[in-house]
Amino acid sequence: MLAICDDRQALHRPLTRLSGGRLAPNPEQPERIDLLKQGLSEAGVKVLAPLQHGGAAIASVHDADYLDFLQNGFAEWKKSPANGPEMRASVHPTVRMNRKPLDILGRTGYFHADASCVMLDGTWEAVRASANTAVDAMLRVLSGEDKDRAYALCRPPGHHAYADKAGGFCYLNNTAIAAQLAAAQGLRVAIVDLDVHHGNGTQSIFYDRAEVLTLSVHGDPAYLYPFYSGYADEEGEGAGLGFNRNFPVSLMSDSRTYLAAVESACEAASNFAPDVVIVALGLDASASDPFACMNVHDDGFKHMGKLLSGLARKTLVVQEGGYPSPSLPTLLANFLTGFMA
Ligand SMILES: [Zn+2]
Repeated sequence: MLAICDDRQALHRPLTRLSGGRLAPNPEQPERIDLLKQGLSEAGVKVLAPLQHGGAAIASVHDADYLDFLQNGFAEWKKSPANGPEMRASVHPTVRMNRKPLDILGRTGYFHADASCVMLDGTWEAVRASANTAVDAMLRVLSGEDKDRAYALCRPPGHHAYADKAGGFCYLNNTAIAAQLAAAQGLRVAIVDLDVHHGNGTQSIFYDRAEVLTLSVHGDPAYLYPFYSGYADEEGEGAGLGFNRNFPVSLMSDSRTYLAAVESACEAASNFAPDVVIVALGLDASASDPFACMNVHDDGFKHMGKLLSGLARKTLVVQEGGYPSPSLPTLLANFLTGFMA
């Protein structure tokens, strides 16, 4: 098994996030790359830089207008001396008020689902490199290189990003972009999202499609971000009805409870008989994660790796959340050790 990582992902350096109504340090920092690489080294997994692929895979998932905003919005923001060092939304459309404006502050609110996705110099290059990492790793899996398995060290993460909205530290949906590459080859894809936060962007992108099964295990959204989706009764719509399943778990549950939900998700994936599995690997259900919303112990991630390894010959693991703590390298090493066993 190989890992793919592009060091230009470090170019995105957010300063702050809104937490409890105050500006707080933003934990989605470039140091995550170093900690995750440490985990790869602990697991004995070699890291390669990706080849550079064009933007077609990204454009197959994200709206052109949104991509233009991600690429050029910050330059426009900087033109006004009244604007601060980070581009952040302070107004959002609602169900009753959702026209797309021309002003940069208005557009920032339009293309952001929440206040967490600040944009600065370097953001576009980093998120583009993150998506390209997923594309490169997926192409290796599809071509059967290195035993059909790869790990994409993607940072910033992607699973909260919609086709036309950033959210939850996510800008481009790396997992969805990889899934779309496989689906375009006529393959059946199952996405199993283990991040403690619901994979709302991924769910939304494939909600009306039957060839990509989306499964997400996460903390109960009645009490946890992203709050407005991730409930067990969201099952897909139209052709996609029955091809989305959510497995919400009570906050602060232990390894046993979280793993039972992961087992249920794996059973659903297995029944779908996928050609390709994509694991959206968040490590933030860990008891040591700074977000502190679940109590999964380090060994729990080894079990998760084992559960996920048997579903399909071709499997891509895409990094999602999991924030700096001394345990972060071990969590990734444990997952991959279980996965490769
Ligand atoms: Zn998360």
